[in-house]
Amino acid sequence: MVAAPDGRGGFRFATTQPGSTEPVSYNPCRPIRYVVNPSGAPTDYLDLVQQSVAEVARATGFEFEYDGTTDDRDFEHRGGPSARSTPVLIGWATPEEVPELAGDVAGLGGSAAVERTPNHFTYVTGMVALDRDVFARLDQEPGGFEHLRAIVMHELGHVVGLAHVDDPAQLMFADNIGQTSFGPGDLRGLAQLGAVDCL
Ligand SMILES: [Zn+2]
Repeated sequence: MVAAPDGRGGFRFATTQPGSTEPVSYNPCRPIRYVVNPSGAPTDYLDLVQQSVAEVARATGFEFEYDGTTDDRDFEHRGGPSARSTPVLIGWATPEEVPELAGDVAGLGGSAAVERTPNHFTYVTGMVALDRDVFARLDQEPGGFEHLRAIVMHELGHVVGLAHVDDPAQLMFADNIGQTSFGPGDLRGLAQLGAVDCL
């Protein structure tokens, strides 16, 4: 189990088990496989993704396994009958393709759960959809890489099971206001997500 820091700051889980405060999370004893669709990505996309994944791996204790690039871009239907064998998809899209990216939204992230035993749910796959134009623009700016990495980390925070918190000192605050690393609340939530029982 990952030791989380003391200090101020809370977290919220995206989903909890029925009738319980225990979070829905991934199976910590299996690697979380992910693929990247590089279409529309900034040129340094693999550094961006792998550094972000490494931060989430460190904070949760989850092992992530990179399965390479893909041309899959089905962000909307990661669940379904084959969900257990479907890797997490990370890719770039426009609001025309993924309507939830409209407006100020720089990215989306989430996971699909299956009921593995009665009344106990486990995430098995998920997705991160990143706004192509936001990434193209910020990639050219000073400090842009750190800003973009923070966006990917935030979305991966959703993937592993965190919801937004009303605290600008945490990366899981809804808006990115310059925070580039996980705050103490984020780290406590991530550590708990990685500490669920193995299946
Ligand atoms: Zn968010």
